[in-house]
Amino acid sequence: MEYFDTHAHLADERFSSDRAEVVRRAREAGVTRIAEIADGPAEWDLALKLCRQPHDGVTFACALGLHPYHAADFSTELLDDLKSHAKLPEVVAVGEIGLDYAKGSAPREIQLPVFERLLDAARAIEKPAVIHCREAFPDALAALRNLYPSRPERGGFWGVVHCFTGNADQAVELAGLGFALGVDGPVTYPKNEGLRAALKAAGPSVLVLETDSPFLPPQSSRGQRNEPRAIPEIAARLAETLGLPLEELARAAMDNAIALFSRRPGI
Ligand SMILES: [Zn+2]
Ligand SMILES: [Zn+2]
Repeated sequence: MEYFDTHAHLADERFSSDRAEVVRRAREAGVTRIAEIADGPAEWDLALKLCRQPHDGVTFACALGLHPYHAADFSTELLDDLKSHAKLPEVVAVGEIGLDYAKGSAPREIQLPVFERLLDAARAIEKPAVIHCREAFPDALAALRNLYPSRPERGGFWGVVHCFTGNADQAVELAGLGFALGVDGPVTYPKNEGLRAALKAAGPSVLVLETDSPFLPPQSSRGQRNEPRAIPEIAARLAETLGLPLEELARAAMDNAIALFSRRPGI
């Protein structure tokens, strides 16, 4: 079985002493593709460098964005810089971008217009958006409805709401708008029945697997640094949730991830 970890932060300094080992363990676990996500300009070059290095048996691509934690750093220069970087072949998405009202690092009045500008840029350059959304679903959904009034032609996705944490109604609405939902470690936590019900409501045709390494470890390694090798544990719990054989879930998640990141101009 082959897996795509659609959201990891392996450029993080927590991997600086053993990154090659982490990638080797990922490969052994069946993870053959990894999308490296850069949260701000300070990380863009690191993510590109990671994509350009050879990794035995694992293909890397990256997404460049501005995390809502850094919304106050937004400027038109940054936006221009993002647009020119995003044309590079290694860059498969714009992200992560989004809204985070849980930690309150920047007020909503700053975060929301920045998110809308970045989303608009993703749409204009025809790359999918990797969206971070915490306790901000009404505003995020309004922005997405406004900018993406119809589903992408010929299937595919406009982007992904990574580490989806919403309810069943929100899951179904996002799927209907043409967004994939990212599933990670929290799906394995015993208490997360509501999350599992929401993912079941959305269905396997819109779900992609991710670890968000080094964050969000699954149940077997809670409290520890997370790694892409956790993907099979997440996949197994998701397959059980959906009542599907693991092989079938793994294939659907891989197909969805490829469709998500291979969006070509005009699609
Ligand atoms: Zn995030
Ligand atoms: Zn992330």
